[in-house]
Amino acid sequence: MRFDIFTLFPEVFHPYIDVSIIARARERGLAEIYLHNIRDWTTDKHHVVDDEPYGGGGGMVMKPEPIFKAVEGVLGSPPTCPVILLTPQGRPFTQAVARELAQQPHLALLCGRYEGVDERVRQHLVTDEISIGDYVLTGGELAAMVVLDAVTRLLPGVLGDPDAPAKDSHAAGLLEHPHYTRPPVFRGWEVPEVLRSGDHGRIARWRREQSLRRTWERRPDLLAKAELTPEEQELIARWEAERQREAREA
Ligand code: SAM
Repeated sequence: MRFDIFTLFPEVFHPYIDVSIIARARERGLAEIYLHNIRDWTTDKHHVVDDEPYGGGGGMVMKPEPIFKAVEGVLGSPPTCPVILLTPQGRPFTQAVARELAQQPHLALLCGRYEGVDERVRQHLVTDEISIGDYVLTGGELAAMVVLDAVTRLLPGVLGDPDAPAKDSHAAGLLEHPHYTRPPVFRGWEVPEVLRSGDHGRIARWRREQSLRRTWERRPDLLAKAELTPEEQELIARWEAERQREAREA
């Protein structure tokens, strides 16, 4: 898959994309990442990329010309792939959106700075807008790295265990079960006996129940959309009843 990233700060990507899983995906040609400095597409002497907002008010706005020049210069006009603006006003980024984007052979990610980009970029160049959460960052670079990372790890061949993404939190609407590794006892805290039993059926049942319990405790909003068996629904109803009984007795 190919990513073209348009930013005023291409250098901030390297510490992340040059290590670990993303670096290996690049080395193996599974992810090609091209970084483009929007400033390189300015034509004026001072390489200006921002200007004051019409209507007044504080802050600066990213000018449309260098952004259009950069994106169209690299991707053609109109661009041949989705052009995604990272913005706190975009659709929320979720695992489902990551899966959707991982189907694309090519994505462009546009990082804003200052007060954001001129509205005409949003209206006439961008094809999708993504927010990584309800908070405001100083720039779109971190958001682009979040999208890049979540999408890249879903590409076939990137992870050592091809089944890992399907078992992760949010893959099927639940949080994942807890993990343990050696030593079996650390500071007196033991790894649950079932995980050391070698009984794969019991382990799978324990993990599923832990996953349900965690989701019920921490993110009950997710349960409404999760696919649960009648037995699992019954189990959750029992936990609910227990909780209500405890609340009455307290
Ligand atoms: N004034 C803008 C607003 O209120 O919508 C926020 C601008 S923000 C300081 C600068 C840039 O950071 C944005 O253009 C966007 O690219 C990026 N950004 C900030 N928060 C983000 C978020 N939650 N998700 C994605 N990108 C974000």
